[in-house]
Amino acid sequence: MIDIVNVTKTYKDVKAVDQVDLKIQSGEIFGIIGYSGAGKSTLLRCLNLLERPTAGQIVINKKDLTALTKQEVRKERQKIGMIFQHFHLISSKKVYDNIAFSLKAAGKSKEEIQKRVPELLEMVGLTDRADHYPAQLSGGQKQRVGIARALANEPKVLLCDEATSALDPTTTASILQLLKKINETLGITIVLITHEMEVVRQICHRVAVMEKGRVIEVNDVYELFANP
Ligand code: ADP
Ligand code: ADP
Repeated sequence: MIDIVNVTKTYKDVKAVDQVDLKIQSGEIFGIIGYSGAGKSTLLRCLNLLERPTAGQIVINKKDLTALTKQEVRKERQKIGMIFQHFHLISSKKVYDNIAFSLKAAGKSKEEIQKRVPELLEMVGLTDRADHYPAQLSGGQKQRVGIARALANEPKVLLCDEATSALDPTTTASILQLLKKINETLGITIVLITHEMEVVRQICHRVAVMEKGRVIEVNDVYELFANP
């Protein structure tokens, strides 16, 4: 479903991503792990069309993302959800309006929005927080809003950028369980980047290890932890 073919991203003389090849299957939870500076975020930004690779191709659902016009890029981005380490909520808007905002941006009608937002709130377990502002929420609740917003326009792919790195272990586990439920019930493909093996162990099916811009190995997570 996601085919990353010989992708390189260079900033001046830094090869942030260096000739990466990865195939991610539909319905998979795929982890990318590595130390800080390994190139994980840069690769994720290429997947989310926030950056264009210097060389190589990214094909999602048979569409070559590296060959799109600006207008097509905007449309394709709506098919990709993304959540962030520091949530990126709009602090002046209530939970409800944070979620409604991405539906509005995608041109949804008032009726559709009024139907969809409560469904999303229920899915992430925040029905009783609709009228709160982000500052009134815990970290885990903020990330749940982030997840609801990312899923608003029914993406096929959810990208997670260190989504639990700002959370304590208990909250991390509950957010990971929510992501697992979303993967299982909605069939959404999840690509996550992390520097923590524990995150990979808890929910990923496969993991790629990045170092100095390169993917140095790809493993099946079940096999990785089955052998002591
Ligand atoms: P990670 O997410 O694994 O920490 P990054 O993708 O953030 O790694 O960074 C990979 C390398 O690319 C680092 O050496 C970083 O300094 C460099 N880099 C990332 N973004 C930029 C940028 N916008 N301009 C210049 N260098 C960058
Ligand atoms: P920053 O410049 O701080 O990294 P961004 O440009 O990533 O911030 O995001 C700006 C705003 O747009 C954020 O408030 C975030 O909520 C929203 N946003 C950006 N990308 C996405 C996305 N893929 N899905 C949903 N919201 C997004």
